[in-house]
Amino acid sequence: MDQHDLIIGGITQPSASGLYFDVLAPATETPMARVAQAATDDVSAAVTCARRGFESWSALAPREREACLLRAADIVAAEGEGRFLDKLIDESGSVILKAKGEIAYTIDLLRTAAGEARRLYGDTFPNDSPGRISMVFREPMGVVAVISPYNAPLSLLTKMTAFPLAAGNSVVIKPSEETPLTALAFGQLLLDAGVPSAAVSVITGFGEECGAPLVDHPQVDCIALTGSTQTGIAIGAQSMKHMRRCQLELGGKSALLVLRDADPVKAAEIAAQGIFTHAGQICMANSRIVVEREIEQAFLAALKAHCENIQLGDLRDEKSRYGPLINRSALEKVLAHIESALASGATLLTGGEVEHGLTLQPTVVLEPARDSTLWRDESFGPLASVVAVDDLEQAIAVANDSDFGLSAAVLTHNVQWGFTAAKQIRAGSVHIGMHSFQSNALAPIGGYGMSGIGRSGGKYSTEEFTELKWVSLALEEQ
Ligand code: NAD
Repeated sequence: MDQHDLIIGGITQPSASGLYFDVLAPATETPMARVAQAATDDVSAAVTCARRGFESWSALAPREREACLLRAADIVAAEGEGRFLDKLIDESGSVILKAKGEIAYTIDLLRTAAGEARRLYGDTFPNDSPGRISMVFREPMGVVAVISPYNAPLSLLTKMTAFPLAAGNSVVIKPSEETPLTALAFGQLLLDAGVPSAAVSVITGFGEECGAPLVDHPQVDCIALTGSTQTGIAIGAQSMKHMRRCQLELGGKSALLVLRDADPVKAAEIAAQGIFTHAGQICMANSRIVVEREIEQAFLAALKAHCENIQLGDLRDEKSRYGPLINRSALEKVLAHIESALASGATLLTGGEVEHGLTLQPTVVLEPARDSTLWRDESFGPLASVVAVDDLEQAIAVANDSDFGLSAAVLTHNVQWGFTAAKQIRAGSVHIGMHSFQSNALAPIGGYGMSGIGRSGGKYSTEEFTELKWVSLALEEQ
């Protein structure tokens, strides 16, 4: 079985403990590789290295940082499938279409981030004291700890890493323990593209043992986490002990509103795409569907028919819609949500059975209780609930009945209804005429409430990973 080491300062090396852990392929639940198991000593080595890396990387001209990120994009464009495709399929259980989509988005993210290197704009503002000039400098923060999740292990990691790098920060990457191989390949990509070896390290390991000491390390300046709300709460609390800024991109329970003027068949297709892509393991998946009663029956009939035609199977077959959940405990969590919702009065429209291994049928549950785990918690599986309402006002109230607020969507042709929903739904993004899972390298992605703190993408990432400094000058000695 392949064995992979940490990348610290451009050197691949075993962990200080010499321990390795197995990476399981979700499709077979069998080990596919062994990866070095980092802990506190490795964290210290990587952060010490990143401090040095920060000095050299931040001193480069913006065009030199831009050039490295553009080179990385060019390498992915030329050989991305060779570097990443099999890893995305085997390690994260992605179907080939999703894996290719991630690779394409990675190129886009790298190019967008490269442009940001030139846009670290400062400011000036009027000073009431005569003969004084006030300026605002925008400066990189230093060492950014990047702690990433498993569901989109390449594109999310790219987003979390490329923008801080563009702004002149160095990074220490701690990827999900489920998907370390993609992250190691990504670290190597940055080195191949010419990012100085001290400016990017990848340490593979577990949350408590490797992520927590990274968050706690005195020489880390900023933390970028994309992960569950539970982890965000722990990391946020720990960061505040050191008064350290953290960007938290967390869980979601996004609502899709299907209003009475929507075409029920098209709405069903859009709804299905928004929840079943990557088996629902998407933070912005529309796991709560709210439909106006007037078209409820037509919509449910179309959704059921659509679900029954979804092809599941070989991950390398372009027709396969989605694959397995990441591990057995993820599957058990989704099954428990279904079971408890049904036990408390909800009904099953379709699905509910394991197709094979860790692959669950597309599942839709009708009218779950509002205090059920299915309605309130993130399931992160191919599972949607549908609730019927009388009008737009009720639909918006139901959409807002959640602690999360990551994304939302409204299917309508009526501009006023769409914008009313967009204004009144408490979520970081609202999409009209499409589902809730939308990506754009320039968009400010992030959430209200328990979906996190901060925004990532384009200039919004640059703002998260830079400090502002007021500098003033007296033209005459005063
Ligand atoms: P997770 O919270 O289990 O793990 C995320 C990362 O945090 C992993 O690298 C893990 O090792 C690390 N970690 C765990 N405990 C830690 C600790 N105490 N200290 C430091 N690091 C720790 O999340 P996951 O299961 O990998 O990913 C799925 C979650 O991510 C879902 O909730 C999903 O909604 C969320 N997500 C959010 C977005 C977004 O943009 N808001 C995008 C993708 C995924």
